[in-house]
Amino acid sequence: KLSDRLGGVFDRLRGRGALNEQDVREAMREVRVALLEADVALPVVRDFVEKVTEKSVGQSVLKSVTPGQQVVKIVNDQLTEMLGSEASELNIAVAPPAVIMMVGLQGSGKTTTTAKIAKLLKGKQNKKVLMASLDVNRPAAQEQLATLGKQVEVTTLPIIEGQQPVEIAKRALQAAKLQSFDVVMLDTAGRLHVDQQLMDEMRAVAKVSTPHEVLLVVDSLTGQDAVNVAKNFGEQVDLTGIVLTRMDGDARGGAALSMRAVTGKPIKFAGVGEKLDQIEPFHPERVAGRILGMGDVVGLVERASEMVQKDEAEALAAKMAKGQFDMNDLRTQLRQMTQMGGLGALAGMMPGMKKAKAAMAGQMDDKVLVRMDAIIGSMTPKERSKPELLNAKRKIRIAKGSGTTVQDVNKLIKMHQEMSRAMKRIKKMGGLKGLAAMFG
Ligand code: GDP
Ligand code: MG
Repeated sequence: KLSDRLGGVFDRLRGRGALNEQDVREAMREVRVALLEADVALPVVRDFVEKVTEKSVGQSVLKSVTPGQQVVKIVNDQLTEMLGSEASELNIAVAPPAVIMMVGLQGSGKTTTTAKIAKLLKGKQNKKVLMASLDVNRPAAQEQLATLGKQVEVTTLPIIEGQQPVEIAKRALQAAKLQSFDVVMLDTAGRLHVDQQLMDEMRAVAKVSTPHEVLLVVDSLTGQDAVNVAKNFGEQVDLTGIVLTRMDGDARGGAALSMRAVTGKPIKFAGVGEKLDQIEPFHPERVAGRILGMGDVVGLVERASEMVQKDEAEALAAKMAKGQFDMNDLRTQLRQMTQMGGLGALAGMMPGMKKAKAAMAGQMDDKVLVRMDAIIGSMTPKERSKPELLNAKRKIRIAKGSGTTVQDVNKLIKMHQEMSRAMKRIKKMGGLKGLAAMFG
């Protein structure tokens, strides 16, 4: 995980007074990789790294934590700040009706989110909400909203065949005034990609409805393209906020940082599932952790005095999430096994690891552990980090060196393979999120 990589960079810095520029630059290379892996857009990454470098250089190193951890905390704090530390409520405390306009690409989740927010406003704030679909391009788009409206028991504007978006918006506002609705939600049409017709239509609707909120709905799985989407929409209408959908998937959250950096607008909600109550206020600190690839970075520093063991468990979790698990990790696990139930216990908690567990079952008495440790001890560092190097010749050497047999070496390799495979499966199943749930 990032803190480990940084730990390496900073180890020799221990006992010195302050973080110097060269060390920080070196650390920032790791930060850059972590951000790019999280799909943060390149220009945003550059900007971010610059800011953190500025903040880090010259900071004195805390006594209780390693310099690496300290930089992680600075990175995390900066991320959280950039993601938005301010509360981001919907601005609907206006003379009714408050108008909320939803914009975004097709399939980003606009219609679903419209219904989700309507449900929230109705349930939590007791608002009388009217929803209207302005999507006249996609067949059945208007019916889709009507169906969702029934599900959340929110009124939708009756559909009039052939009416165009601007007319529908006007009619929605009129209806809202006449029937004293508190909030009108306008669900606009999307396109597969940004085009001028869409933008013109959106602007025309904004002009007649003068919305109090214009929420850009973005799929959190949008990678580098997030920047373009944000720019294009932001240039055409005055966005007031962003909603990130599909945060339940295995998006690393990079889009959040990109969107936020480009538009400067707060991320107001996160969609976390298809169901209509699966929407949450946006939590910057959680997403920051996700971007950095760990559950709780700040906690790492705050719990700096805690046992190494937990740290190692977190490091393992991060490796698992990436599908990396080498002989060094196996060794660590073997060593912990007697103390904390180790991988056996871990395996028991994870779906898809039954086979790995079976491979270990019954052979885990103390002698076996000692032997396995010896086998790994006889490997070269290269072999440990790249077990696939282990050919027949190397196995014979290792068996000799550890006072075991080639058969024993093979058993260990088999165990490692089973475990790696299980971990790759975990990664496919949603990796970080599943693991975060387990370790968080
Ligand atoms: P629109 O074209 O922007 O109106 O998108 P829709 O609201 O029709 O959503 C497209 C698909 O994404 C639907 O199948 C939704 O159920 C799904 N969806 C929307 N938000 C979320 C979310 O937060 N999580 C998940 N898993 N699916 C979502
Ligand atoms: Mg739609």
